[in-house]
Amino acid sequence: MKYKDYLWIENLIQQNFPLKELSTYRVGGPAEYYIEPADEEQALAALKWADEKKIEVYILGGGSNVLIHDEGLKGLVINTKRLNKILSQGKKAQASKNSNKVIKKETSVAEEVTIFAQCGAQIDRIVDKCAELGYGGFEEFAGLPGTVGGAIFMNARAYGKSIADIIETVRVFKKNANGRWISKTYRRECLSFGYKSSPFQKERTFILEATFKLKPVNSGKIKNLIEEYRQKRKELGQYVLPNAGCVFKNNRNFGKPTGMIIEELGLKGKKIGGAEIFNKHANFIVNTGNATAQDIYNLIRLIENEVERRLGLKLEREIRLLGKWEE
Ligand SMILES: Cc1cc2nc3c(=O)[nH]c(=O)nc-3n(C[C@H](O)[C@H](O)[C@H](O)COP(=O)(O)OP(=O)(O)OC[C@H]3O[C@@H](n4cnc5c(N)ncnc54)[C@H](O)[C@@H]3O)c2cc1C
Repeated sequence: MKYKDYLWIENLIQQNFPLKELSTYRVGGPAEYYIEPADEEQALAALKWADEKKIEVYILGGGSNVLIHDEGLKGLVINTKRLNKILSQGKKAQASKNSNKVIKKETSVAEEVTIFAQCGAQIDRIVDKCAELGYGGFEEFAGLPGTVGGAIFMNARAYGKSIADIIETVRVFKKNANGRWISKTYRRECLSFGYKSSPFQKERTFILEATFKLKPVNSGKIKNLIEEYRQKRKELGQYVLPNAGCVFKNNRNFGKPTGMIIEELGLKGKKIGGAEIFNKHANFIVNTGNATAQDIYNLIRLIENEVERRLGLKLEREIRLLGKWEE
């Protein structure tokens, strides 16, 4: 395909698009170029368009694990929010009356049921859909902000379960040996996930969709569990002030959770500008109202330096820094 063959995509690309409200930290500057593809064809054309222009591509899901630079992002930001279909498959599947995006496919196998979701589908929407259908296995992720693509990329984890534990397949756009974008489907056993890490963090891929293997369960029980998980997050104050969840990964070799390490150094409540180490959970940094991305970054560096200087431990970041940061 030649450049002119997908020039049409330029009509859908906006310039100087504000990103602040698309990041759960509520900080960061604009995207040089921005698109919300409505389908795969548009996503692929956008990727090729960016290649042709030799500009960086940033894929944005729910923006709940990223820190966007105050000066914004040079290049093309692809927001996956419109690629949000969810389909259920299995004997117990029942299409919702209200949702035209849920499609019922009856099969004779009831022992295992499958949910299919596009990358931009909200995790919490899938959780509710599973509860409605009586599909068990997704409930631990109740209340987790973000999308399927982000959860797979990060290998999100909640209450002892990683998203990789329920993945059956993942389909992506990736480049082949000739540098051409191709669609490829991986079965779970061919993907090496680790604690909060995925193979997609090492290779430039656009996660398009995934299927998840679940079990038929009692819908009422699942709904109660989901309520409990959501309630716990509320009690932990996770939604009170803008944040992006845990800033650092835990490390078993350190003997205790990272939040506890930071707290024991007396850093809870420490502030730089409008950014503060959360007083309810020291591995969270919150935006108290007027934080800049730089304030948050400076606080991250302060924690890293203090933990290394006083304990000799090197923390590993969980959140992804987007943009040109001087490390
Ligand atoms: C209140 C709160 C609580 C949280 N609790 C947890 C928790 O319990 N456990 C946990 O693991 N995390 C938690 N998080 C962090 C975050 O919600 C998860 O990591 C989530 O899975 C990120 O999804 P997202 O769609 O927001 O990704 P984004 O933040 O948009 O992106 C994260 C990374 O994934 C990449 N990405 C996104 N979509 C795609 C795609 N389609 N293809 C390729 N790459 C893609 C982005 O480029 C970026 O590098 C929490 C965050 C908040 C704000």
